Amino acid sequence: MLVIGVIPSIFIRAAILSSYENRAISVRESEVQNQLGIIAKHLITYDYLRDPTNEAINAELEQMSNLYDGRILIIGGNFKAIKDTNGVSAGKIIVSEEVIKCFKGQKVVNYDSKNGYIEMTTPITETVTDEETGANTDVVRGVMLSSVSTDTIAMTMRIIGRVAWTIDIVVIAIVFAIAMLFSRVLTKPFNKVTGAISEVGEGFTDEALSVPDYAETEHIVDAFNKVLARMRALDESRQEFVANVSHELKTPITSMKILADSLMEGPDKPVELYREFMEDIAGEIDREDKIISDLLTLVRLDKTNTDLDLSSNSINAMIEMILKRLKPIAAGAEVELIFESAREVVTGVDEVKLNLALTNLIENAIKYNRPGGSVYVSLDCDHQYFTVEIKDTGIGIPEEALEHIFERFYRVDKSHSREIGGTGLGLSIARNIIMMHRGTVSVESVTGEGSVFTVKVPLV
Ligand code: ADP
Repeated sequence: MLVIGVIPSIFIRAAILSSYENRAISVRESEVQNQLGIIAKHLITYDYLRDPTNEAINAELEQMSNLYDGRILIIGGNFKAIKDTNGVSAGKIIVSEEVIKCFKGQKVVNYDSKNGYIEMTTPITETVTDEETGANTDVVRGVMLSSVSTDTIAMTMRIIGRVAWTIDIVVIAIVFAIAMLFSRVLTKPFNKVTGAISEVGEGFTDEALSVPDYAETEHIVDAFNKVLARMRALDESRQEFVANVSHELKTPITSMKILADSLMEGPDKPVELYREFMEDIAGEIDREDKIISDLLTLVRLDKTNTDLDLSSNSINAMIEMILKRLKPIAAGAEVELIFESAREVVTGVDEVKLNLALTNLIENAIKYNRPGGSVYVSLDCDHQYFTVEIKDTGIGIPEEALEHIFERFYRVDKSHSREIGGTGLGLSIARNIIMMHRGTVSVESVTGEGSVFTVKVPLV
């Protein structure tokens, strides 16, 4: 605002002063020229060029030079100065460019702004009538070389300049005051928002940011509140995760402690009991180990979210390998594994990670099955995606649990899952990996009949 307000006023001042100067000088010039023109006529009338003693003319010339604080030189036809109102150059020969030009009938005007005067030449012309033809011709008999002071103009300009400066200072002060006012009014809502944000930053409270009355910051406040809500949700899930991890890691330790305590208590126990309890303790250690390694896998996946080691792989071969590896477990659970593939699918995937994801899904289909049940794995693809469907004839998942089963540590039936060695992290790991491949995993299930997990991953 300062720049917009002040710069034009400085330019306007300069323009006004310069146009005043031009105008005043040209008025002064024409005024003096007029007067000199009249005097020139008188000079001819009274034949002053031949007889410069005419009192009336001399008085007129004096008056003129006094009036304009200047000097008038009358130069005759032989370039000799007939009269100098200063008296200095009278009788001298004056041959200058201006004088010569003037004898040729050309008026010359020079404005010397530095020294503050205007110099001009005025021809002294006589009209001569040709006796034979009767035609009139102007003959230049002499030249008036005059200089007039422009001090009064300069003084007026100084006064105007001073007034302009005063106006400039007043304008600057007004503009400055307005600019200050505006900047304060405009930044006030933003300062309020900044203040409110710092308050929120100090304590992670449940309050939403509120800066009422300002439309300017409404969008910022809304966006900030959204971010805040997301941060709170993240914080809550982090706290919940830590609580879950502690709980999950504590359970096997508690069991081991109980087993060990009961062995140490009371009189000597039979060796068989020792053996049985030690086996249980070893089982709990395995479980603890599984939870920790699953957790490490999850954390590593979170950390290297975009870090996929893609290579061209046959998905058919991958599934066949998994099924081969899981066959003994399936046989132990009396579950049949069936693989159907409509076509050969070869695409870029992270082999280790996708293998882990599919293993988790197929393992679940075996774990949550019933003796004599089956797991159907089918593979198909179109021009955009490949799809793996894992269908089991197991216990199914209740409707209300479907939206939670991909959450960390979520298990439908805690004790059953624990019995069969589940950590509650398998599906979470699987979903993370599939999402890293920009794919999706969905589930449909009917309790008591079985579940279908569908994995859809874009072809690369
Ligand atoms: P877990 O290690 O307990 O198997 P997951 O994350 O793999 O953990 O699965 C979470 C829960 O989802 C399981 O505890 C189980 O209750 C349920 N679930 C997963 N897959 C199936 C399935 N194929 N059939 C029935 N329930 C399943």
